[in-house]
Amino acid sequence: MRIFFAHGHAIHDCAGEIKDGKFAPCFENPRRLEAICAGLARARLGPLEKSGDFGLGPILDVHEAGYLAFLREAHQEWRASGRDGDIFPLAWPGPGMRRDRIPVAIDGKIGLYAFDSGTPIGAQTWQAACDGAQLALSAAKTLLGGERLAFACARPPGHHAMPGQYGGYCFINNAAVAANWLCRQSGRKVAVLDVDYHHGNGTQAIFYAREDVLVVNLHADPRDEYPFFLGHADETGEGPGYGYTLNLPLAPGCDWATYSRHLEAACEAIAAFGPDFLVVSFGADTFVDDPLGRFRLTLEDYPAMGAAIARLGLPALVVMEGGYAIEALGDIVPGFLNGLNSG
Ligand SMILES: [Zn+2]
Repeated sequence: MRIFFAHGHAIHDCAGEIKDGKFAPCFENPRRLEAICAGLARARLGPLEKSGDFGLGPILDVHEAGYLAFLREAHQEWRASGRDGDIFPLAWPGPGMRRDRIPVAIDGKIGLYAFDSGTPIGAQTWQAACDGAQLALSAAKTLLGGERLAFACARPPGHHAMPGQYGGYCFINNAAVAANWLCRQSGRKVAVLDVDYHHGNGTQAIFYAREDVLVVNLHADPRDEYPFFLGHADETGEGPGYGYTLNLPLAPGCDWATYSRHLEAACEAIAAFGPDFLVVSFGADTFVDDPLGRFRLTLEDYPAMGAAIARLGLPALVVMEGGYAIEALGDIVPGFLNGLNSG
């Protein structure tokens, strides 16, 4: 197993987020990766490798150029308009309003490119997000070289990031960048399995019309949970991608007995697709004590989750997504990786 770690992740460290109608400390903060780093050391997993540089090309292959230009310049424009601190949106184009005229004012641009109010942008968010994508690409490259398992431990996470919008603490979709790159480099089929508590709306959107990348999501039912507006069971792909998206929404309170049954169904769909590579978007927010999740998985369930996925027998890239029970992350992540490695 190769492990790639975003040593510079802490440059993305915002002062707070809007949660429950209040300004609260960020759930997605540098302590998450510090806890995972300590847990990997305790489990004697490593070494923690640094990323290479693949340039912007692989990121531009899944995200719109105008959106990336916005992300790169946003905080500078924000400061130039007289504000300091982190960026939060003010207004959105609702149905019937125009999206084809890109505003000059930074506040208008933010409304065009954000889809929620809980995802602050700091002065170095763009750099951290780019580094995360490079880390995922570095780990993906080892699979092309014959490695069976690689882990990209990055933050901010990525799976909510749409082709042209950010939200859900995500800016660049690390898993999608890596999955697309693996697919293009190898000319082979890739499956993405998203086991974060929340639906990976961005990954689904990026590959929705593609038949060479299967996207399978196991997540909290969006009727009742963020991101609310994508992730229903009747979303199955479009055009050539019809039949290549599978959503398995689960009710609040879901425990391992229910979860593992649906995970088996997810793995059966992946096996039937017959991919050459697997990309796993791993979120630890399915844990019983996660402050943002309402599933009931326990520490011993994560090695079993890894082992169930390992039975597919596919070279796998694991990309870190959410997980906010900081005290438990150092046990959850090594547990999952060990299960995947020994399966
Ligand atoms: Zn999540």
